[in-house]
Amino acid sequence: MRTKEDLKKAICEAVDGRRAEIENIGDQIMVNPELGFKEYKTAKLVADTMKSFQIPHETELAITGVKGVIKGKNPGPTVALIGELDSLLVADHPHSDPETGAAHACGHNAQIAGLMGAMMGLVDTGAIDDLSGNIVIFAVPAEEYVEIEYRLGMLREGKLSFLGGKPELIQKGHFDDVDLAAMIHTHRSPEMKKTSVVESCNGCIVKLIRYKGRPAHAGGAPHKGINALNAAQIALAGINAQRETFKDDDAIRVHPIITRGGDLVNVVPADVRLETFVRGKTNEAIMDANIKVDRALRAGAMALGATVEINTLPGYMPLRDDGEMQKLFMQNAHELVGAEECTQAGHRTGSTDMGDISHIMPAVHPSMSGASGISHGNDFLISDKEMAYLAPAKALALLAVDLLYGNAEKAKEIVAHHKPIMTKEKYLAYQNKIFQKEIYDGEAGTSETDSV
Ligand SMILES: [Zn+2]
Ligand SMILES: [Zn+2]
Repeated sequence: MRTKEDLKKAICEAVDGRRAEIENIGDQIMVNPELGFKEYKTAKLVADTMKSFQIPHETELAITGVKGVIKGKNPGPTVALIGELDSLLVADHPHSDPETGAAHACGHNAQIAGLMGAMMGLVDTGAIDDLSGNIVIFAVPAEEYVEIEYRLGMLREGKLSFLGGKPELIQKGHFDDVDLAAMIHTHRSPEMKKTSVVESCNGCIVKLIRYKGRPAHAGGAPHKGINALNAAQIALAGINAQRETFKDDDAIRVHPIITRGGDLVNVVPADVRLETFVRGKTNEAIMDANIKVDRALRAGAMALGATVEINTLPGYMPLRDDGEMQKLFMQNAHELVGAEECTQAGHRTGSTDMGDISHIMPAVHPSMSGASGISHGNDFLISDKEMAYLAPAKALALLAVDLLYGNAEKAKEIVAHHKPIMTKEKYLAYQNKIFQKEIYDGEAGTSETDSV
């Protein structure tokens, strides 16, 4: 049996030896971006790579997920190393898909490159022989919570239970055999240096809103209409008026968009649609802001005598990394990039469904540099492949070694000491309870609720 240090060194060398293949995977995915639950080409690339490394794997999990397993000879906990398959929609990105407008503006292509690189390093060195337990290599769909109407349609057709990838995988039981989970996101932020762990991330719930008015001639007889766009604008003003009531420490973010503002300019708008997230640091803070947002939405309908349909959908849980896993990750990061390039980034106001995983098991979601441009913007690119592709590959593999080396003492210790915030059942019940459709009739001042 190799010492842990020798094994880690061998893995880093093996990853370096696979540089061309790893870079090719990251670059390939960059120019073949696909939105969540539609990542067919990307999933195939992952499955083909697993096949060529003789990794047994399942495909089409939560539509496009691919789950491989490096099975240990000795019993022990299972560590999942995760990469996200999906892209965003940024049509004017230089590598966008000309047909769909999809583009990798969040660096998920680098996550898959890193995940595949970690797998290669572990397989090439036969690392599992010196470990106990199993390593799951998990390429997961749909982290970006987008195309809400489309996904809601899939939900109504029974093709999905949730609108995000990891909640869907949890619900379908694909994390039932996983004890600890880790993934590394790519970042571009100079203040986050080369490597960063966070204290927490915002959670969110998601709302799809529809104002129904009455169409009429916009010039000839507007008094006969009910203007749904005006109702929506009053609602948006109401939400904005609430902002002073949000506590700084709760890090609330409410950022509505109008996805349909009317149909013809000479007809009073009668069908106006909005989407928004309600984000916050804790579930309590999110729920408090959500009540205020609903009140503002009803107020718009009431002012105009319109009807508003408010669909409230479960989003993502606030991220809560496991401290011990962070520590292990950081020790390796010190070796890989130097201690002066490692930082603790405090609370972040974005959201990720790794938060959901972190609610039910020990999990870690650090980030590493290697990107340039604005996150989710049209200039977001991978500018340093060493940091974006190779470093996460090494960091993920080395973390798995730390957790499972020998008799997997470290993983066992973490699992034993970890108190999950929720059981899987509690988590699912919590998320399912959020689904709600309220129809508020502003003229009558009455509300009814229905299933989404
Ligand atoms: Zn993103
Ligand atoms: Zn992302």
